[in-house]
Amino acid sequence: MSDRYCVFGHPIGHSRSPRIHALFAEQCGQTMTYEAIEAPREDFVGAWRAFVAAGGLGANVTVPFKEEAYRVADVLSQRARRAGAVNTLVHGRDGRTYADTTDGVGLVRDLEAHGVTLDDARVLVLGAGGAVRGVLDPLLAAGPRALHIANRTAEKAVGLAADFQQEGDVTGSGHDALEGPFEVVINGTSASLSGELPPLPETLLAADGVAYDMMYAADPTVFLQWASARGARTIDGLGMLVEQAAESFFLWRHVRPDTGAVRDTLRHEL
Ligand code: NDP
Repeated sequence: MSDRYCVFGHPIGHSRSPRIHALFAEQCGQTMTYEAIEAPREDFVGAWRAFVAAGGLGANVTVPFKEEAYRVADVLSQRARRAGAVNTLVHGRDGRTYADTTDGVGLVRDLEAHGVTLDDARVLVLGAGGAVRGVLDPLLAAGPRALHIANRTAEKAVGLAADFQQEGDVTGSGHDALEGPFEVVINGTSASLSGELPPLPETLLAADGVAYDMMYAADPTVFLQWASARGARTIDGLGMLVEQAAESFFLWRHVRPDTGAVRDTLRHEL
């Protein structure tokens, strides 16, 4: 029987993770299956336990179960502990559940793959939800000169900045207090999902600035269109999706796939 993995979410029909992990497995010669499972909203724990009882070895976890997956873990990585949510579970040989979060490392690797330098840069992160909390640790580890978090609900950005203060120069505010220029601006809000744009000042982007949207689509998001019209280099979150998947794959299989080839395939399929 081949080794079993899955992604849990609700809904889950839209997930590209089965496709990504099938491409990784083929490329790396791994005998495994990876399916999408829609867990009941009220019983994620039961779904994970049933999967393990049926021989499951590991899972990705997406909306709305990332916090519950954090609570089900017996052993949390350090970055998962700081994020307060996880996207990867591993069923250990000792029967314990190990958990990690790979979104942040996925974002930083994708920025690196695009030649974006975070070291000594002034970085702005828009949004203060789960996705942003999950990427702050790896972003700060990359050594920006300063990192500012701006959110529609200002208190959430201020609170998040306070939680990560020991890791670097981190500040938080609402959108109205935003002052550029920033060399790297990362949109971690869900505004793009509904085609909306957070209110942004004209002075936001430095000359040669980079705009990154964690969301991806066949066409550029409104945020990327706005940034492109102001001369910025733009990157969407497809590479982050592939890189976070590669880190999960590595945690399960101890093999690193070639992410560039898989990203290109997915881009064609969008
Ligand atoms: P959450 O629901 O936890 O947070 C949403 C955030 O967006 C909040 O800060 C919210 O502000 C803000 N927001 C929502 N609508 C607007 C708007 N119209 N204008 C301004 N701000 C707005 O979502 P997540 O953090 O889980 O996800 C955020 C995004 O990241 C999603 O688009 C998701 O697809 C993407 N993502 C991409 C990944 C990838 O691999 N590429 C991985 C993980 C996430 P407020 O606090 O005021 O409500």
